[in-house]
Amino acid sequence: MLRINNFEFSTSFRENNKNPSAVNHVQDKDNMCNLAYLPYYRPFTPSFNARWFNASDNKFQKAKEYFNKKYDELEDNKKRWNRNYLSAYNLDTLDGIQEGIPVFKGMTMKEIYFLTHYLKEIAVHRGCHNMCVHCYAEAKPPLLLKTEKDKSEKINQMSYEDYCALAEGFKELDKRLKGLLFEERELYLALFHDADCSDISIKDKQGNEHDFTELVDIMYEATQLPQVFDTSGWNPKDKKVQQKMEKLVQYFLQDGNSEKFCFFNVSLNPFHSTNARYVKYIESDPQKAMKYRNIYTDRMANVLYTLTPIIRNNKFEFISRAFDNTHAGGYTEQALKELIDEILVKLENKYIEDIKCGNLKYVKNMEHMKSIMETIKNKAESIDTLRLAQGRAVNLVDKDDILFQRRKMILEEYDIPESAVESSRFNAIIDANGKVYMTNYLLTYPTEIQLNFENKNKKTADIKPDLQEKILSKAMIEKKF
Ligand code: SF4
Repeated sequence: MLRINNFEFSTSFRENNKNPSAVNHVQDKDNMCNLAYLPYYRPFTPSFNARWFNASDNKFQKAKEYFNKKYDELEDNKKRWNRNYLSAYNLDTLDGIQEGIPVFKGMTMKEIYFLTHYLKEIAVHRGCHNMCVHCYAEAKPPLLLKTEKDKSEKINQMSYEDYCALAEGFKELDKRLKGLLFEERELYLALFHDADCSDISIKDKQGNEHDFTELVDIMYEATQLPQVFDTSGWNPKDKKVQQKMEKLVQYFLQDGNSEKFCFFNVSLNPFHSTNARYVKYIESDPQKAMKYRNIYTDRMANVLYTLTPIIRNNKFEFISRAFDNTHAGGYTEQALKELIDEILVKLENKYIEDIKCGNLKYVKNMEHMKSIMETIKNKAESIDTLRLAQGRAVNLVDKDDILFQRRKMILEEYDIPESAVESSRFNAIIDANGKVYMTNYLLTYPTEIQLNFENKNKKTADIKPDLQEKILSKAMIEKKF
């Protein structure tokens, strides 16, 4: 596993911090406690501090002694087996090591292990306006919170304070477990479930916005897990998002920051709602259809233009998805190829215009432009044809289609939460209110696990796809380990 076990704060990260004067850092290596309050973290609370450093806490002490003994034993064995993973520990005996970490209050070590082992998505921002037909999360626009009552009862975003408490909790527990918390899991983490990353930013109690770059810094620093950035594009007339994305490009180019990403993806597909309107109207009203087509191709040409400085980075990829050519026109591989060609013509025109005007921000000359266009064509060449009917695309395939039949088989296989709890095909999602869900991206089970968030009593939109009524219980998790 490539993960780096970094038990200390990265100096450069702290130096990069906007308000280093607010850093309050307390460290006690013997007690495996490292209270580091970054500027964006909650204000220092003496009772919390006292709790963490209460060496007389019996449960914590016993768990710590067990952990240290077992850790040394496994480190010795490591020479032979080359592994020291949390799965080799007795999680009942280890229970207590998490004592005093506020965000895990009320959770057992088995539940925390289950969560961190399967965690793939932290849904910091809920909802998306793109309404892509194939969206596995069946994303819809954010809930409308019009009245004060709505605002007091529902949320569309994780609070910044909860996000920081989560990162702080991960960091502290990982420290106590000598870096084993995320050691045996998949490498990456996504800060979204049903959102486009270009939309992501969350607010703190003072109303200050914290954008994607800041959220990446915080979670990467806490977990050392690289993040995923996915976008299906943004409206080029939206100046705020455009500026955010230009800032993100600069951030990505700064030393060390690309290491915080596993993938930087642009989705090129025929399923975006704007292109879906083109498909809908092309027979009945070609003029109207072309209006939508142009909006979409302009939009994506601007996305590629804005991201030009990072397009050659090996983490930059296209997610190009379509139905295979045996399916209905408009959403096929062939239709996507035509769509990509149209986008690339518009992009090339933008570069040529720049060269003519002497604006050499993205391309220096014709040769440079050709080489960038070549890279884009190569990266966009590979199209992934859908193997399952997912999301709203279910309505585009016949019930006897192989894509539908495969979907049906998987749904039947996992029709009870007991089957999901035993499966490695399910991933955990933390919702904006701290509730934990398990999904295989065809169906989703709510669990009884919830993080101790300040917004834990707020409602959110249903986590999709296909949210089940049956609950994956704590008893099932207890039985699993
Ligand atoms: S696929 Fe992504 S961009 Fe499209 S609707 Fe879903 S979350 Fe939004």
